[in-house]
Amino acid sequence: MRKLCRARLSVGGYNALAPIEVQVYVNKGRNDTIMTRRVIDFHCDVLYKMLYEGKVNISQEDLMDVTIPRLRQGNVGIQVLALFLEPHLLTGPPRFSQVLRAIDLYREHIQSHEDVIDIRWQEDLVRWNEQPDKLGMILSLEGVDALEGDMVYLRTIYELGVRFLGLAWNNANWAVDGAQEPRKAGFTREGITLIQECDRLGITLDVSHLNEKAFWQLLELTDKPIIASHSNSAYIMPHVRNLTDEQIRAIIARDGRIGVTYVPYFVAEKGRVEIEDLVRHIDRICELGGRNHIMLGSDFDGIDKKIVGLEHAGMHGDLLSVLDKKYGAAFTDEIASGNAKRFLAAHLPRREQ
Ligand SMILES: [Zn+2]
Repeated sequence: MRKLCRARLSVGGYNALAPIEVQVYVNKGRNDTIMTRRVIDFHCDVLYKMLYEGKVNISQEDLMDVTIPRLRQGNVGIQVLALFLEPHLLTGPPRFSQVLRAIDLYREHIQSHEDVIDIRWQEDLVRWNEQPDKLGMILSLEGVDALEGDMVYLRTIYELGVRFLGLAWNNANWAVDGAQEPRKAGFTREGITLIQECDRLGITLDVSHLNEKAFWQLLELTDKPIIASHSNSAYIMPHVRNLTDEQIRAIIARDGRIGVTYVPYFVAEKGRVEIEDLVRHIDRICELGGRNHIMLGSDFDGIDKKIVGLEHAGMHGDLLSVLDKKYGAAFTDEIASGNAKRFLAAHLPRREQ
């Protein structure tokens, strides 16, 4: 069985999944558009709401931006769930126990759902690929504050399924400074150890929220591909959370990925931000040679203000309709999931390792 999985994962001389056979969903009411693609969204904060606001009913339609019915409506095939711990608690930095609490909520209320496949290994991805009706979920950590500088905690979250690690949120932590920390320091000695341990384990590093100096330092410290799970182009919208052209080129050169994000503040500086404004960021990344490196990173449940027409996870299809008209179906498929899927197939660890 394992040999079969491996064979399926090496189509075309690299770790690509075999062409996906996709169940056809018909979304009536959307001009009878036939949705044939499963969306992969690389960032949302629904676990944050579950942890801090006590909203745990993932099946309730309008409780959160990301719910099971909304994921279905948006034809989401894989949702990456960020473990984001509030960095400004009166009691000091987040503790590791809060990470465990968030993972426990995931296991109790999401992973246990009959429609959900927990994806940790390449073998899980193959299983997901064979079951078009399932929702894949992958855990990521957003900001390492709660790891408390302890590599045992890092190895523990790896064992519990975390496969992506955002090195910082906007603040400074024990490893590195985030994008909005005025000091903008690079990696501490402990931060360098963290990078090495992530590389060894097979945890992909996420540079969204990292300050630019640390970004360039990171590229010296690892030769692995990196992702920016939810960041846009700073050329289009100058913001400290967005990526300069040079950063985008560097991610592309590593065959990393950039998840364009639906956060209005990172899209355009105006009151009413629309889907067309987000498309300009995709255009810019394409101009820099990133056609095969663009994916989606909504940040749903992490934002109060929304792009008009992209208010929750049920609405990814509205973005894809715009992309279909502009780029055609084949490239839109790549943005929706193809680019992200190739990355997962290449970089999720194998269970037998
Ligand atoms: Zn974020």
